[in-house]
Amino acid sequence: MWGRHLGPLGSGGGDDGAGRAHNLGATVADVEHFAPHTAVGRLTHPDKSPRVANKAPHPGPAETSSFDTVSHYFDAAADRLGVPEGLRAVIRTAYREVQVQVPVRLRDAGIHVFSGYRVQHNRARGPFKGGIRYHERVNLDEVRALAALMTLKTALVDVPFGGAKGGVNCPARDLDQGELERITRSFTDKIAGILGPARDIPAPDAGTNAQVMAWMMDEYAKLHGDTPAVVTGKPISLGGSPGREAATGRGVVYAYREAARALGLHPDSTRVAIQGFGNVGSWTARLMTQLGCTLVGVSNTSGAIHSEQGIDADALARHLAGDGKLAEYPAAEPIGSEDLMALDCEVFIAAALGGTIHAGNADSIRARIVIEGANNPTTPAADQILADKGMLIVPDILANAGGVVVSYFEWVQNLQHVGWDEHEVNNKLGARMRSAYREVEERARRQGVTPRLAAYELAIERVLEAMRLRGHGGFA
Ligand code: NAD
Repeated sequence: MWGRHLGPLGSGGGDDGAGRAHNLGATVADVEHFAPHTAVGRLTHPDKSPRVANKAPHPGPAETSSFDTVSHYFDAAADRLGVPEGLRAVIRTAYREVQVQVPVRLRDAGIHVFSGYRVQHNRARGPFKGGIRYHERVNLDEVRALAALMTLKTALVDVPFGGAKGGVNCPARDLDQGELERITRSFTDKIAGILGPARDIPAPDAGTNAQVMAWMMDEYAKLHGDTPAVVTGKPISLGGSPGREAATGRGVVYAYREAARALGLHPDSTRVAIQGFGNVGSWTARLMTQLGCTLVGVSNTSGAIHSEQGIDADALARHLAGDGKLAEYPAAEPIGSEDLMALDCEVFIAAALGGTIHAGNADSIRARIVIEGANNPTTPAADQILADKGMLIVPDILANAGGVVVSYFEWVQNLQHVGWDEHEVNNKLGARMRSAYREVEERARRQGVTPRLAAYELAIERVLEAMRLRGHGGFA
């Protein structure tokens, strides 16, 4: 494990991407001195700053990187739309990419330098918008891909935003509140100049939450004055919107209802397996079971569980909130993580991270509908395997758009100094999700393409139209 992470350091040098070798001057002994075998020992080396982090190999079992996956789907849609190569290059690349150093003192491992990223992809349709991810595997390639997906997602559900994404390559699960706060304030301070309610508005993503948004808002306020609309997904007491925390999961459930309608499937005969039980997965699970579906399996990074009779999603959420392990949940049997994918069910929901459905495991999925609650969960090879099996795939830019829709509602409430109740928020969300779903469904039917291709085409057309009207990207 040490050898794999040390990479260029182990051989006494690195490469800055331009072919020049550095001698970083660190030895294995130095590294071990900085990274004792503690919970934070997984950090392995204190320097996760851009010069080292960008050398990280493409992680995980997926056969393609996030960026290659998005580029593949984008090119397939752009080919059909006849988008000229120059214009494609504009959309494939980002408007601005910022990398910053995030040094922080951790409780038992000295000072660590993480890398913080903010990629602003396209602003033709409005201010940049996108989440902030805290995860040890965050890297520039992935943030670029996620930023591009945000441009397409905001266009598809027709909210007046562009696309962005950010993150810090810190192991959020191993850090305490003080460490998370110091990382957040340091990161925000460095990127505050490119944020703002009319410029770029972050939100929570994997590894971050309402508390992280509160720290970001507060740090931004030190420089620019109190500006609640600079972030969404804040605590309600600081100007957050009712319904935002559950919004992505609720949007996934609206997507399920539409897909089920098309296939003549009813909640009481729907068994669902959910990969990932964080914000998106746990809210999806709770709302699906409220609807009458049976939750037959759940997984997270620690393992997976299964019950033919159904898992009580609220009880499971309470068990995990109390520091219980998934496999120790008493009312279900533990199974292997990959076994979750092979469970007999009508609906499989990916709500973990990117690349979890890949060429090596896609064939084991036995559902009729796959819903992408996560961003970028399905590699192109896996997408083909699922399509060949006749499954309906509800693509990420549609299925998980509920979060950004309610972020838009939060931003509107902040700018107008008004507050809506949760009922109003949920109803507006439902209307937006239904209309986007039906537009995608109709286009897919008319053109004889997959919902993913139809969704990409609709989104690209809208972004290109805005670029043309503004004279962006070579249109001027
Ligand atoms: P989170 O950090 O709250 O939860 C992630 C969950 O996935 C955790 O339960 C984790 O244990 C699990 N997980 C990670 N890797 C796994 C694996 N290989 N197998 C099984 N489980 C695994 O994150 P979140 O906010 O729920 O986000 C999940 C996904 O949804 C991400 O792809 C994110 O980009 C996307 N998303 C989130 C939002 C949002 O509002 N939070 C909005 C749109 C899209």
